[in-house]
Amino acid sequence: MMPEESGSMTNEFERLAEGQWDVLVVGGGIVGSGVARDAAMRGLRVALVDRHDFAFGTSSRSSRLLHGGLRYLAQGRIGLVHEASVEKLTLHRIAPHLAWPLPFLFPTFRGTPWVRWQLSIGVKIYDLLCGRRNLGPSSTLSASQMAEKLPNINRQGLTGGVRYFDGLTSDSRLAIDTLRSAVGHGALVRNYTSFAGAERTASGWTCRVRDERGNREVEVAARCVVNATGCWADRLPHSRVRLRLTKGIHLVVDQERFPAGEAVVMAEGKRILFVIPWGQRVILGTTDTDYDGPLEDVPTAEEDVSYVLGITNQTFPPARLEANDVMSHWAGVRPLIASGLEKKGSPSNTSRQHQIRMPEPGWIDVAGGKLTTYRLMAEQTVDLAGRHLGAKLPPCRTGKEPLLEPAAAAFSGVQPPPVTREAVEHYCRREWAVHLDDVMLRRTEWHYYERDNCLVADQAAAWMQETLGWNDAERQEELRRLREATR
Ligand SMILES: Cc1cc2nc3c(=O)[nH]c(=O)nc-3n(C[C@H](O)[C@H](O)[C@H](O)COP(=O)(O)OP(=O)(O)OC[C@H]3O[C@@H](n4cnc5c(N)ncnc54)[C@H](O)[C@@H]3O)c2cc1C
Repeated sequence: MMPEESGSMTNEFERLAEGQWDVLVVGGGIVGSGVARDAAMRGLRVALVDRHDFAFGTSSRSSRLLHGGLRYLAQGRIGLVHEASVEKLTLHRIAPHLAWPLPFLFPTFRGTPWVRWQLSIGVKIYDLLCGRRNLGPSSTLSASQMAEKLPNINRQGLTGGVRYFDGLTSDSRLAIDTLRSAVGHGALVRNYTSFAGAERTASGWTCRVRDERGNREVEVAARCVVNATGCWADRLPHSRVRLRLTKGIHLVVDQERFPAGEAVVMAEGKRILFVIPWGQRVILGTTDTDYDGPLEDVPTAEEDVSYVLGITNQTFPPARLEANDVMSHWAGVRPLIASGLEKKGSPSNTSRQHQIRMPEPGWIDVAGGKLTTYRLMAEQTVDLAGRHLGAKLPPCRTGKEPLLEPAAAAFSGVQPPPVTREAVEHYCRREWAVHLDDVMLRRTEWHYYERDNCLVADQAAAWMQETLGWNDAERQEELRRLREATR
C-alpha cells in the first residue's frame, strides 16, 4: 500500500502482525522487490521489509547496465550470457522508461588480451545469444574508424575494435518502480523495518521485525521467508549463503570536461572498465577488489579514484582528468556466490551466477546474480515458494506485463527528472521517502547528477520539511545525514 493510502506508516507496521503471510521477503533491493512483485502477481499474500531505505544496498550503487556481459563470453560462460541477454531485452520491453539502448565502443590494442578478430566473432555470438534481435547490430571497426569515433583515443598500438549494444537503466528507480508494481498487486512493503530473527513453527515461521524509526517490535507470521538481503545474506540466522564480497566504485564527471557520445570499454589487462554517457554527465567505473569493511558505509578510497582516472587518462591521453574533476561518486559491494575455490582467484573471475536454495522448510535464500537478471531470479524463487506451499500457482507474468503504465512513470526514468516540489511531494507521499537521502540518492539521482547538488539538497530539504512537517533542527539533521552518506 502507498504511504498516503495506508493512513500512516504506523498502521503499516501494525498490519505486518495481522494474519499469516504466504511470503515474507527480507530485503528491498532489486531482488527482494522482484520477488514481492512476482509473488503478489501470482495471488500470494506478501509482505516485504527493508532495514534501511529500499535499494539502500547494492541496488543503488551499480554501473546501471542491462547487459549480457560480453566479458563473461570470453570466460566461456555462455549459459550465463544467454540468460542475462534474454533478460536485458525483457527489461527493455516491460520497462521502456527505465531502459535506454546504449552503443558500446570497445577499442583494441596490439599486445593486449583483447584481440580484434576474436572480439569481432564474440560480438556476433553476443547478438545471437539474445534469442532475438539485439538492441542494435554489432560491427567491427578499423583503427581509423575507431579513431574517427573517439578522436582522443590513444593511437599507440590501436588496431580498431568493435561496436555492440547493451542497455542503461537507473538501478534504484528500477527497484522502487518494481515495489510500486508489487504494491499495486496487493503486497505490503515497509522500509526502515528490520528482520531481527525467526523461529520455525508448525505452520511456517514466526519472525521478529523491528521498526527502525520507532522503538518497537512485532511478531510476523509467514509460511515462507525469503532472504533477499544481498551482501548481508550470510548474516541472517538460518541462512546458508556463502558470499565473496567485492567492492566497485564509480565517478561522475561533466560532459563539458570529458565528452562521450557512446559508451566505451577500457581494458586493463583482462579487466574492463566503462565510460558511460549519462545525459550531461559521464560515469566512469568500476573497480573490483575484495572487500571486508563495513556494509552500511562503503568508502570510495583515494586509490580507487586514482585507479579509475589513471585508466581513463591512459586510454584518452588528452583528457588529463584529475580528482577535482569528479563531481560525485558512489561505492557498492557485489554479493557474489563464493565457491570456496574462488576465494583465491581474481574477483573479476568470480561467477555472477545466482543461487536459490531452501536450507530449511520454508526458508529460501536467494543471492548472487546481477541487476539484469533480477526478474528471472524472482521468478525461480517464487516457483520454489509455490512448490513449498503446495499451491498450484498461476504462471509467472512479470516478463510480459509492463512494470508501470506510462502515466505512473512520470517521476521516473534513466535520467533524473527536473528538480520540482511536485516531484519531492510525490516521492514522500507515494514512494515511501522519509529522509533527504531517500530522495537525493534513490528516488532521484540529484546528488550524483546536479552540478549544484548542495543547493538542490537545500531546496529538496525545504520541500520535505513542508511535506513531512519537520522542524528546523530536523531539516539540519537531514542535511548532515546526506553529507555523511555521500562523503
Ligand atoms: C560496483 C557494482 C557494479 C555493478 N554493475 C552492475 C551492472 O552494471 N549490471 C548488473 O546487472 N549488475 C550490476 N551489479 C550487480 C547488482 O547491482 C547486484 O547484483 C544487485 O543490485 C543486488 O541486489 P540485491 O537485491 O541482491 O541486494 P541489495 O540491493 O543490496 O539489497 C539488499 C537489501 O537488504 C536489506 N537488508 C539487509 N539486512 C536486512 C535485515 N536484517 N532486515 C531487513 N532488510 C535487510 C538492505 O538494507 C538492502 O536494501 C553491480 C554491482 C556492483 C557492486
